[in-house]
Amino acid sequence: MKVWSSFSSESRKCRGCDVKTGNYKVYDQSEIAIRIPLCDDCYGKVDVEKLSKPFLTTLRKAIGIQVNGDLSQ
Ligand SMILES: [Zn+2]
Repeated sequence: MKVWSSFSSESRKCRGCDVKTGNYKVYDQSEIAIRIPLCDDCYGKVDVEKLSKPFLTTLRKAIGIQVNGDLSQ
């Protein structure tokens, strides 16, 4: 899984401490990415790789099922 930081002019509440921030931590697996708002202080403290991995895998599978119409998987 690829992890990087991104900055957006759209600021959201940091998931760690509720301060408004434009910093995001991005987790990317197989071209599907989730973006979590995290301020500078919380950025290094929070690592949701373990949580986001099964989520991204499930999402990728769900999209594949809808596109291919194969509900057996
Ligand atoms: Zn924070």
